Amino acid sequence: MSERKDTPEQAEFREYCRRWLAENRPTPPPFRLPQSPVEVMTEQQRVWLCAWQKKVHQAGLIACDYPREYGGGGHQGFQRIASAELARAGVPYFINVIGLGMAAPTILHHGTEEQKRRYLPPLFSSDEIWCQGFSEPGSGSDLAGAQTFAERRGDQWVINGHKVWTTLAHFASWMILLARSSREHKYDGLTYFIVPIAGAPGVTVRPLVKMTGETGFNEVLFEDLHVPDSLRLDAVGKGWTVAMTTLLYERGAAESPGGGGGESHEDRIAALIELAKHTRRDGRSAWENPVTRDRILKLLIRVEALKQLGRRARVEALTDHPMRLPLQGKLLTTEISQDVAAAALEVEGMSSTLYLRDENAPQGGRWPHAYMNSYGLTIAAGTSEIQRNILGERVLGMAKSK
Ligand SMILES: Cc1cc2nc3c(=O)[nH]c(=O)nc-3n(C[C@H](O)[C@H](O)[C@H](O)COP(=O)(O)OP(=O)(O)OC[C@H]3O[C@@H](n4cnc5c(N)ncnc54)[C@H](O)[C@@H]3O)c2cc1C
Repeated sequence: MSERKDTPEQAEFREYCRRWLAENRPTPPPFRLPQSPVEVMTEQQRVWLCAWQKKVHQAGLIACDYPREYGGGGHQGFQRIASAELARAGVPYFINVIGLGMAAPTILHHGTEEQKRRYLPPLFSSDEIWCQGFSEPGSGSDLAGAQTFAERRGDQWVINGHKVWTTLAHFASWMILLARSSREHKYDGLTYFIVPIAGAPGVTVRPLVKMTGETGFNEVLFEDLHVPDSLRLDAVGKGWTVAMTTLLYERGAAESPGGGGGESHEDRIAALIELAKHTRRDGRSAWENPVTRDRILKLLIRVEALKQLGRRARVEALTDHPMRLPLQGKLLTTEISQDVAAAALEVEGMSSTLYLRDENAPQGGRWPHAYMNSYGLTIAAGTSEIQRNILGERVLGMAKSK
């Protein structure tokens, strides 16, 4: 059962993860579970997903590499194993995805001892949900153009501004916030904060409705929000450096404290094959159509290539540039998701106009929903165009784009 490279201690941990996941796989709830954090909408879904994350954390499969005093397991190298086993088990994803994937590593690298002890344990257990306040109506790809202003008044900061596309803000206790503390310098005028959201005076969270018809992300308005200086993360004017740490994790170039879970590409392609088998085309199943089969097989080959890329990225001798392989991950995975959903819509034909909750919709209407959501994923965390720019400029050494 162990992987070829596991040490005896790692093999034992892997075996524990597999056993625990086999014994504790949650029974599906009587309502539709969201497939990604941008879909979380109802209180019922939040409660269910928080309870699941808490249980997995208590079992020691989240934050395995983090020190025990910060709510972690204290075992370097174990998170990669836990994440792989969570992914293999295909269990539900963790609701506190921004906390786990972005806030926790940023706090670990840049936070004070007090901040790490205060904020990390309830983040891992999902007792406190986190959101990310980077994008603004006038600055997304050009993140350093952020205009939300933090004004120093004694040992307090007063924050005013407008953040947008803020995933999970409607459930969040805390936000990691990039704000401008000086208008004189673009990059050196940014400072990074932890700010309260739920119930904080001066904070308004407004849900945004996506083309899927669901909420899931929001706009957040700050009007004279007062926060103590103890909520600043790292030095005044060092916000850009701190934000780069967040982005390194957000774009998948570094291991986060809890990953895996959720539906894999293989699961989605298996559902697509089932769909093709049950869809009639010209008197036979769509799965027997050589063009459809070819398209699906090409998707499977891309998924396999992505998996091998992940393995290769861990072997230093196989990569000429440390970021070349990890930086491709976000681009490839989101584009595969989009192409799988597009293939499913083509298999469905006219039926792809039937949506969630329509009893005649193939596979519960999941594919038109997945297709519309897939666009958000190629935009979030840096658009595909920006990812290609980064690869071109930083990895291939090409001339900088404007
Ligand atoms: C589902 C989803 C969830 C999100 N969650 C969050 C969140 O929780 N917190 C948060 O802060 N933000 C979040 N975002 C916002 C996201 O980070 C931004 O949408 C993204 O960075 C793009 O910024 P923008 O929307 O302002 O587009 P713009 O930057 O205005 O870009 C518009 C278009 O121009 C292209 N473009 C821009 N600059 C260049 C360039 N230099 N070269 C080539 N093409 C370029 C882009 O690729 C894009 O196609 C989320 C977005 C989505 C879709």
